[in-house]
Amino acid sequence: MLNIAQDDRGFIFSTDLLLALIVLTVILGLSAEVVDTVSYKMQDYGSRNSLERLAHEGADILIKSPGSPDNWEELNVGEIKYPGLSRVDYDHSPPEGHLLSYKKILKLKKDYGKIIPGNFFPSYLDCSIVIYPVDNALDPLVIHDSSQLSLSKEVVVVNRSVLCDYRSQERLLYMNINPDSVNPDPCFIEKCHQLNHGIEDGEDYWICRNFRIERSRMKDHSYYLINTGTAPHTYWILDQSYHKSNHIRGFNNHPFNLDNDIKSLSTNLDYEVFYLHINLKKEFSGSFEIFVVEVPVDTPLDELKSEFFQIQPCYFVLKAGLKN
Ligand SMILES: [Zn+2]
Repeated sequence: MLNIAQDDRGFIFSTDLLLALIVLTVILGLSAEVVDTVSYKMQDYGSRNSLERLAHEGADILIKSPGSPDNWEELNVGEIKYPGLSRVDYDHSPPEGHLLSYKKILKLKKDYGKIIPGNFFPSYLDCSIVIYPVDNALDPLVIHDSSQLSLSKEVVVVNRSVLCDYRSQERLLYMNINPDSVNPDPCFIEKCHQLNHGIEDGEDYWICRNFRIERSRMKDHSYYLINTGTAPHTYWILDQSYHKSNHIRGFNNHPFNLDNDIKSLSTNLDYEVFYLHINLKKEFSGSFEIFVVEVPVDTPLDELKSEFFQIQPCYFVLKAGLKN
């Protein structure tokens, strides 16, 4: 049997342990000092880092997500879980390419104070969100502009390329008129009920297209004819198959309100089909666009320009800083 009193292995082990403990203590002491210095420097870096993270993640959610519920722009503030600006298509999926919804932008602008501070972003964060269209004809869409942001010591700027749908979904008819329109899609000519349209007629030719209006929407919507230009001796007629008209009018440079025309032509059907017939001279050489649009009756006049009815490339700029 092993005699403990004569066994010196235990003592050797204890001396080893003691030496190891001393070395460890010295290392730990040194490390603590190093950690103190580093953590001091990290505090600054950490707040910057979390500001960066909040700004970038916030911008990502706003651009890439439709928000929750995905029709939040139609709801009361209390029913909104979080906002997102991405437009959803009819199958409720966001389309590719960061297409933002103008309606969601307007709602976020209107209720920014109730939706963003203290909810989407922590209340210690100051923030500006502005969407700059590439086309100079359009003004920037200012969702929120914080005057306090310039006082912030640290400001993070996130700038992303996006598309904005503006009022493109309110477009009932779009025509690009150019010399190639002389040979338009034959099906449009065949569908035209005006017998002399589509027949060679000296120096003139007709381009005829139809659009549909849902009767229930007429009550709180207005209808406009918008053109981006015109050509001499270019005219239009608006009518219906069962309510033909020969009332010829020229284009001007302002949006033309069609409400009275539509009311007087209307036949009280749930869906009404209207025809726009355009008469051009054969020597016409320019090009211009024509839109028929359906907008809410309270739409501001400065939103009745052609740029509003096309998807526009924009820059989404989010600036975030810590409140002082
Ligand atoms: Zn026609």
